[in-house]
Amino acid sequence: MKIWLIGAYGIVSTTAMIGAKAIERGISPKIGLVSDLPPFKTLDEHIPFKFEFGGHEIRPMGNAYLAAREHWEMNRHFERDILEAVRTDLEDIVAKKGTAINCGSGIEGLGKIETLEEEGLTLGEIVERIAEDIKSFSDGETVVINVASTEPVLKWSEEYHSSIEGFERMIDEDKKEFASASMLYAYAALKLKLPYANFTPSPGSSIPALKQLAEKNGVPHAGNDGKTGETLVKTTLTPMFAYRNLEIVGWMSYNILGDYDGKVLAAADNKESKVLSKDKVLEKMLGYSPYSITEIQYFPSLVDNKTAFDFIHFKGFLGKLMKFYFIWDAVDAIVAAPLILDIARFLLFAKKKGIGGVVKELAFFFKSPMDVDIINTHEQFKLLESWFSRLS
Ligand code: NAD
Repeated sequence: MKIWLIGAYGIVSTTAMIGAKAIERGISPKIGLVSDLPPFKTLDEHIPFKFEFGGHEIRPMGNAYLAAREHWEMNRHFERDILEAVRTDLEDIVAKKGTAINCGSGIEGLGKIETLEEEGLTLGEIVERIAEDIKSFSDGETVVINVASTEPVLKWSEEYHSSIEGFERMIDEDKKEFASASMLYAYAALKLKLPYANFTPSPGSSIPALKQLAEKNGVPHAGNDGKTGETLVKTTLTPMFAYRNLEIVGWMSYNILGDYDGKVLAAADNKESKVLSKDKVLEKMLGYSPYSITEIQYFPSLVDNKTAFDFIHFKGFLGKLMKFYFIWDAVDAIVAAPLILDIARFLLFAKKKGIGGVVKELAFFFKSPMDVDIINTHEQFKLLESWFSRLS
């Protein structure tokens, strides 16, 4: 299968490419891949583990190998031998120039960027260019995944975002102030009838106009924001408190990270979407809102080693207050990259089974799953398992 990555030179994208190629070459194990677990073994019959990659970028890095090497120099997130073993595969992956419309002040931290809008193109022309790039790469077995930097919270427009007609009018009338890059990429993918996933908290395909388009075109899509670290632990642990009828009184989550993602999230406008995405999970699972602090701060020397410090204040029998602490210290790209391959395979599987619209059963992979209130990781896993066994 083929995967088109928006943000192709990012650390999550390049780590997914390296992992896929290293596994194909038999030099790395499939550890970390959900789709390799026993309940999903028959997926190999539908979607063999073989990938081709392409994508859009705004950082002119030359090719995916050069981008990956830069990430490796900073993070050393796996053995260098693995990178060199897949070097030629990655050198062949050259991303197309993308758009960064309304991507916020955070992307200024990315260094030199080149975008389609700098060429003076209208929204219509930008969408056309993006769609042409994707079309010339894709085949009937292609999935588009957004792994670009997080955009600021959407400036909602009833007129342009609530229907396909409104969205297309926004493009025709070149109303750039209401568009954002992630929506334009999602629109292009869904128009081309290619399954789409949003691994970021950016709007992507989650606005009503694009949900309608996915339904109309019978294209499966899923999102938003990969659940990989602190939120994964939070949504796995919270049910324990709920099952034992322990009241969570307060939950403080303090995240520090470096690298490009940390730099972009250090900008207040870009950070707001991530905090919102993380914040909502407790209320959804518990049915009440404990006092909650969610902080994300840039900490350059950590690079991609995200550290989350969590403090939970909870009440037990006789009203006694007690405390629970945990520290999650993981390499962000290492926990995220396999999910890109999993999501792509499950979405293509959905397409092959004739499914269109939001694939709620993929909620397991996301912090803010679309159209479903099941946030509990255990329930989400069961949902995925039974969906797959029903269809396969
Ligand atoms: P990164 O900064 O390494 O990669 C992002 C890439 O996107 C960069 O190469 C950047 O140049 C590119 N980009 C930015 N705006 C673009 C645009 N409009 N069009 C095309 N390319 C664009 O970040 P990352 O660590 O790889 O994370 C990628 C995304 O995934 C972020 O939004 C992050 O919040 C999200 N995410 C990551 C994790 C995780 O790493 N565990 C979990 C959940 C969500």
